[in-house]
Amino acid sequence: MKVYLDNAATTPMAKEVADEVAPFISTYFGNPSSTHYFGRQTRNAIEITRRKIADSINAKSNEIIFTSGGTEADNMALRCAVTDLNVERIITSKLEHHAVGHTAENLKEQFNTEITYLSTDKLGNPSINELENLLSEGKKTLVSLMHANNEIGTLLPIERVANLCSKYKNVYFHSDTVQTMGHYPFNVEQLKIDFLTCSAHKLHGPKGIGFLYVNKSISINPLITGGSQERNQRGGTENLFGIVGLGKAIELSFSNLETHRNHVENLKKKMIKGLKEIDERISFNGEISPERSLYTVLNVCFPKETCNSMLLFSLDIHGIAASGGSACSSGSNIGSHVLSELPNQENCQCVRFSFSRYNTEHEIDYTLEKIKKIVKKT
Ligand code: PLP
Repeated sequence: MKVYLDNAATTPMAKEVADEVAPFISTYFGNPSSTHYFGRQTRNAIEITRRKIADSINAKSNEIIFTSGGTEADNMALRCAVTDLNVERIITSKLEHHAVGHTAENLKEQFNTEITYLSTDKLGNPSINELENLLSEGKKTLVSLMHANNEIGTLLPIERVANLCSKYKNVYFHSDTVQTMGHYPFNVEQLKIDFLTCSAHKLHGPKGIGFLYVNKSISINPLITGGSQERNQRGGTENLFGIVGLGKAIELSFSNLETHRNHVENLKKKMIKGLKEIDERISFNGEISPERSLYTVLNVCFPKETCNSMLLFSLDIHGIAASGGSACSSGSNIGSHVLSELPNQENCQCVRFSFSRYNTEHEIDYTLEKIKKIVKKT
């Protein structure tokens, strides 16, 4: 049996997405910038998709810029804030994805941008009080805080932060919503936010495609130059298959959001309960309540006395795929920068299980049964 519980790293593509993309591989090939019939066909497909995506978050079509995924979208938001909006300071946290963290550090080196890290509590929540104090200083600032942490699942009270930032004229707010887009409803007309990011492969879409939402009040220059695509905001012939697939993935996610959410939330609850029954010393990193944590992610802390460092390997032998830290650095075997910010990690073996709507209760039973054997053997 093979059980895929690493959906925060990437998700399997939905069959409906593959079906939607197929004619754009086999039949429609025109360059969307060409003015003839072949080009108009693919241009239409792109613009219909842009409208569909915009509608799903209550944005305008011209607020959606297609990118090569979450990393590029995060880069674009941070870099444009510094180079086009003249932001002097970025306020963020040490728990952000490297797409934000490394970009902020790079901007500091390149442009001397001031970077301020909010302190975080033991569950990974950034201090909103600290943010409030810092914003009152009056500097031109970009606040970049992720909606849900990809390793531990802790959720940001995004509306509260957006409301706070919107009180200041010279403050912009970017949230990395790569792990939450398609899992929670977004209404950008109401949410006072400047930048949101999305990556299709996290919501059963294709890899190498995503988008950046940029509030219509902001005008940005392209990071990638050499073509007038994306209304002069990103050069290069569009990733046609990717865009069409992203549109379908977004449509499927948003149209069945509550059903998927209930299903996945139940799987997570079952996993938490089952693990506690196996050994009550097993604990969890980050928030785990349904209101304060992303329902697709569960980061489990196995005390060293309950299992050895071969836990992930043992799970893999049983066909269970999970992750030992952020998937983005898996393979390189560098410790997780997120977990290292949390207390009491020294005596733990941490495993991130992340679920999708395609997982079943039977798969969770199987996983728990194998974990029980591994833990007992140790
Ligand atoms: N932001 C977060 C929170 C992520 O989890 C990831 C991927 O793991 C990214 C950004 C990067 O997205 P992409 O793989 O599309 O570049």
